Amino acid sequence: MVNKIAIIGGGPAGLSAAIYNARASLEPILFAGSPPGGQLMLTSEVENFPGFTSILGADLIEKMRSQAKEFGTIIYDDNIVSVDFSKRPFTLSTSKTQYKSEAVIITAGAKALWLDLESEQRLRGRGVSACATCDGFFFRDKIVAVVGGGDTAMEETQTLTKFAKKVYLIHRRDTFRASKIMEQRIRKNSKVTLILNNEVTDVLGEQKVKAIQLKNPYEKSNTLAVDGLFVAIGHKPDTEVVSKALELDEKGYIITTQQAAVRLISGKVKMADVKKYNSKYQTMTSVAGVFAAGDCVDHIYRQASTAAGMGVAASLDAEKWLEE
Ligand SMILES: Cc1cc2nc3c(=O)[nH]c(=O)nc-3n(C[C@H](O)[C@H](O)[C@H](O)COP(=O)(O)OP(=O)(O)OC[C@H]3O[C@@H](n4cnc5c(N)ncnc54)[C@H](O)[C@@H]3O)c2cc1C
Repeated sequence: MVNKIAIIGGGPAGLSAAIYNARASLEPILFAGSPPGGQLMLTSEVENFPGFTSILGADLIEKMRSQAKEFGTIIYDDNIVSVDFSKRPFTLSTSKTQYKSEAVIITAGAKALWLDLESEQRLRGRGVSACATCDGFFFRDKIVAVVGGGDTAMEETQTLTKFAKKVYLIHRRDTFRASKIMEQRIRKNSKVTLILNNEVTDVLGEQKVKAIQLKNPYEKSNTLAVDGLFVAIGHKPDTEVVSKALELDEKGYIITTQQAAVRLISGKVKMADVKKYNSKYQTMTSVAGVFAAGDCVDHIYRQASTAAGMGVAASLDAEKWLEE
């Protein structure tokens, strides 16, 4: 059997695409991964998804899944382990079964990189976060620490200064990888205190974060009282399964027509390099009929609602492409 649309990914982008495609009677199949749900499963309250003043991340995903199923999406909580986009219909394989589809939407998301401390995982959603835009609001007039040394850490620090009364920026080296302009902005901010040459070795607290343990190169330990820890050491898109089939950027994010245009404007590539992208479909990848949306494409906005919006755009592009 050949499906019309197959969606890889069961986070906000994939489920939003599924709702639209299912309502258009395209009977999408969706592979939500194992475990399913995506990044929102790692957080507690979400207060910035339109329509909900406050909702648990897991409940929001459950509502999206029910809505997608209600309109006829078939959801498999399974991983796609390989793809063949070299001929149509496209082939997607799980460890047990092969599926054929005329169009594919990839919404495989990304993973925040963590410090890999047991205490950090235990206190995730209880003071430990990887998203200042999402969780900064919970730290009004509190003291927080950001760990990292690149542009992401600078941006997270800048965002947190709008809420917290004091922000420590902790970096394990004595120089930052971030762009000079961002570093200067942070250095000038009176709410920020830099702690260089220090690593976070533990997060202290039972029910919520109380302090962090730091270690410097001279093996001296130091405890710093904080209400929150923001880990800003980077994100990794979940694109390995399509890495040989599609064009990805230097960091592994999928390039769509829209991203190709941005790369062209910013001088990263030449016109000849982006000619394969179809200007009619902003979410189409380097392969006609394969679309991508959400955090596996976007390394700038990274929000549930922006991922959902991109998912909708990809579903409409796929629908139009199938009609044509
Ligand atoms: C700690 C934390 C808190 C956050 N809080 C908020 C918040 O309050 N508000 C907000 O708007 N945003 C928040 N975000 C960001 C938000 O979660 C993401 O922007 C959003 O989930 C991205 O959606 P997505 O669908 O693109 O990807 P994801 O949510 O990452 O979902 C990707 C899905 O693809 C699946 N997948 C991956 N590979 C495969 C494969 N090979 N086969 C099958 N399935 C696969 C995964 O299992 C997953 O289901 C938070 C993020 C984090 C980490």
